[in-house]
Amino acid sequence: MPGFCSALFVFMKTLTVLGSTGSIGSQTLEVARMHGYRIKGLSANNNARLIEKQAREFCPEFVCINDEKAFNDIKIRLADTDIKLLKGREGLCELAAEKCDMLINSVVGMIGLEPTLAAINAGNRIGLANKETMVVGGELVTALAKEKNVEIIPIDSEHSAIFQSIMGNTDNKIERIILTASGGPFFGYNSEQLRRVTKENALKHPNWSMGKKITVDSATLMNKGLELIEAVRFFDVAPDKIEVVVHRQSILHSAVEFEDGAVIGQLGVPDMKIPIQFAITYPKRMKSLSGRLSLTDIGTLTFEKADEETFCCLGLAREAIKRGGTAPCILNSANEAAVAAFLEDKIPFYRIGELVGEAMEKVKSEKTVSLSTILYVENEATQFVNSKI
Ligand code: MG
Repeated sequence: MPGFCSALFVFMKTLTVLGSTGSIGSQTLEVARMHGYRIKGLSANNNARLIEKQAREFCPEFVCINDEKAFNDIKIRLADTDIKLLKGREGLCELAAEKCDMLINSVVGMIGLEPTLAAINAGNRIGLANKETMVVGGELVTALAKEKNVEIIPIDSEHSAIFQSIMGNTDNKIERIILTASGGPFFGYNSEQLRRVTKENALKHPNWSMGKKITVDSATLMNKGLELIEAVRFFDVAPDKIEVVVHRQSILHSAVEFEDGAVIGQLGVPDMKIPIQFAITYPKRMKSLSGRLSLTDIGTLTFEKADEETFCCLGLAREAIKRGGTAPCILNSANEAAVAAFLEDKIPFYRIGELVGEAMEKVKSEKTVSLSTILYVENEATQFVNSKI
């Protein structure tokens, strides 16, 4: 089977998709299907059933599974193919280093950092949807990418919008970034109301259909906090120059203000296939199956201030990037542990922000950001949060 498939797609662009069974990963494969891209490798955490289906359609050379039990499962499922199977974090890094035209990194959480570094070292161009990579190791990633002359194109819709807005303007100074936020399902709630929300409420996002972790992050506004840090890293601007603006319709995906007062932004329907495809085809644009924007149908676009006090995660993220060093890693690791506990019904919604705040107070931050200090601090922050649950 793989031999037949590779003969068919021999002249096509090759992609490796990390996190292919997630929301961004699946949509990347929809884009690949439409344009006939060849798939070099796929990876998933534990969804053996779905990755088998994807592997049978796209015939990759490699499939990597993180979870031990799911790995044993996929070995049986794909026993009739020549697909090479890889396992765990090591397998993920090995796959990321396999030569391809673009590596789409859409894994969830800071587990995405090491494969990002492996891909840069191998000279693979990256489409980055894994924001935690930039949050915890942004300095390492951008420095290594510069050294190896590797392009990293953002896939997060806001950062793709900023990236598109500064195209042709790279010599001009950015005065301000307007980072738009949908506000999530609890926009306008006060602290008292937030104490009563349920998991079901938190998992209902008004505009975007996404994975569970990012949906919870959107409800706490931590997602916007992580994106603020991601924007500082991607575009090298000071945190104070990034204004978070709540825009309920998710039509303006973010904007940039230049020194002369001109504001350039990118608009479109909220559909992640647009930034995914643009990362792959950049600097070209190609036809897409995405819906078209009708401004007159929408009628009104609204913009409001974000409440950084009630939604403390956003304020904490701003504080973490100002402190620098491994403070963003403490913020992110504590959040990953707290969100996991929330999804397992171990803590209520409002405790997520409280636990992140406590971790930032109690866990000692390191000045030097290296892979070893990042992994050390991750462990400290995770253990701290787990001890409070
Ligand atoms: Mg986003």
